[in-house]
Amino acid sequence: MKIEQVPCGECGILIPEVTAQRTRGLCIPCKMRLTKSDPFQDFYKALAERIDRFPNGFTSLTEPEKLYFALNLFRDEVQAGGFSQYFSGSAGFYFEYAEKGAEAIGAKRLLAVLREVKEFLFPEMPVPADTEQRRRILRTPRPGVTSAQWTEKMNEFRKRFDASSEHLSERLKVYARQQRLVSEHDLVDG
Ligand SMILES: [Zn+2]
Repeated sequence: MKIEQVPCGECGILIPEVTAQRTRGLCIPCKMRLTKSDPFQDFYKALAERIDRFPNGFTSLTEPEKLYFALNLFRDEVQAGGFSQYFSGSAGFYFEYAEKGAEAIGAKRLLAVLREVKEFLFPEMPVPADTEQRRRILRTPRPGVTSAQWTEKMNEFRKRFDASSEHLSERLKVYARQQRLVSEHDLVDG
């Protein structure tokens, strides 16, 4: 009897169809590799959950936890939708901590971009904690800045973010270790 085989959705090696049905189309090594937990990502998710679940979730975090959370969130949001998405969504609330976080991990180029974007979008004021207020400011046309110039500037910021954020994840890991946010035994085989 012939065993039906299908290619693994990740690496393309042929695997029995019965296996593919159990693993959503992956060979066993790919399945293991892709589902392996990442203690740093797990910790970030755990922080996000605490913040979502409890009214004082964020304020109950330690300072290093706040910075770690805010910078991870900043990276994910900007990568997904740029600075406009970041500041017009609830994530923008945590900007101050993302900035402190970039400073704490020594990401100098990123910090420079972050400060310039902030100054361009919210000149001479702290980033408002209130989301509606941030949106209002973002929607208000700036005297002397055409919408084409605006878009160009935002694209430029985005490019500089991409160029300066390449080591961000690594730096965040180093920071998490230094601050003992992620315990060493979680990292065995990491
Ligand atoms: Zn595979």
